[in-house]
Amino acid sequence: MHLRKRVMVTGGAGFLGSHLCERLLKDDNEVLCVDNFFTGSERNIIHLLDQPYFEVMRHDITFPMYVEVDEIYNLACPASPIHYQNDPVQTTKVNVHGSINALGLAKRLQAKVFQASTSEVYGNPVIHPQPENYQGNVNPIGMRACYDEGKRCAETLFFDYYRQHNLKIKVARIFNTYGPRMHPNDGRVVSNFILQALRGEPITIYGDGAQTRSFCYVDDLIEGVIRLMNTPDDVVGPVNLGNPDEFTIRELAELAIALTGSTSELIFEPLPQDDPQRRCPDITLAKDLLGWEPNVPLKEGLLPTIEFFRTFL
Ligand code: NAD
Ligand code: UDP
Repeated sequence: MHLRKRVMVTGGAGFLGSHLCERLLKDDNEVLCVDNFFTGSERNIIHLLDQPYFEVMRHDITFPMYVEVDEIYNLACPASPIHYQNDPVQTTKVNVHGSINALGLAKRLQAKVFQASTSEVYGNPVIHPQPENYQGNVNPIGMRACYDEGKRCAETLFFDYYRQHNLKIKVARIFNTYGPRMHPNDGRVVSNFILQALRGEPITIYGDGAQTRSFCYVDDLIEGVIRLMNTPDDVVGPVNLGNPDEFTIRELAELAIALTGSTSELIFEPLPQDDPQRRCPDITLAKDLLGWEPNVPLKEGLLPTIEFFRTFL
């Protein structure tokens, strides 16, 4: 008889988590989605609820969990500045206490554990593109610190559990990812621009719009995550996962207008504190280790994303 792996996804009702749960179910795993629905939503996983090997547990991972699983993907953490700055102390807690709980569980179960880290560990980088051995430029007392330093501390914990307890760990540094099920009100650039374009409202460019970001379509990202999890035990990361195609924020605004056929105008607003000027992954390591690189061009990935946002009008 085929024995399914039991896989836990913390933050499984969120944007990335719900796509990951879907993929893991498709790959014939049993999935336990653990989420406190802080930024996640039942809407994201409603289509999975009638699947026999899918289970949802409402739980805050800053408190210990007692479950039996074979693998853990730790994604729980609000990802957008609006959400993580809403309760910065809880953001640090979810990264530190939450990671300790996920790691403690993995240690008891001898389970492999994946950490969704972030390009934000590089802070406002002075090296472009950022390779994994770049140690970052983070303001420890700024508005983003609860997230950036929280994620940095989570990486520290993962690597100390690896060295001290021989835990099987996989750490990915995820760069900006977009796609259906992104939060409509999270203030992120992709959701803001698409909704503004669809509503015919002005497109709000912060600063002069010359700052760049690289945008990875969610299906590409999930493929990278699964590949990393399935590497041999000596591959632990951190591994950058993201799309190296760089676009200025102004270019993104123009693309959003063109693809929605909008008549919106561009308006310019002040740049938020600590807003990085450039961010672009060096994915050499992911290419070498995982044979992975993104396949979906921005124009193509924006189309299903726009369709998703239409449902909110
Ligand atoms: P998201 O906000 O949609 O998902 C986070 C999920 O975690 C939500 O479902 C939320 O309810 C849940 N959660 C938050 N606190 C929790 C807690 N204490 N206990 C249990 N569940 C909790 O964000 P996302 O974009 O899906 O991000 C998922 C992970 O990937 C996060 O760890 C984020 O830092 C990381 N990441 C995302 C991106 C991106 O571009 N989306 C980039 C880099 C890193
Ligand atoms: N941004 C913008 N207009 C918006 C929202 C964001 O110009 O309505 C800019 C923001 O200042 C930043 C970039 O877009 O330079 C990406 O912002 P986002 O919050 O999406 O992600 P992050 O800064 O975490 O990469």
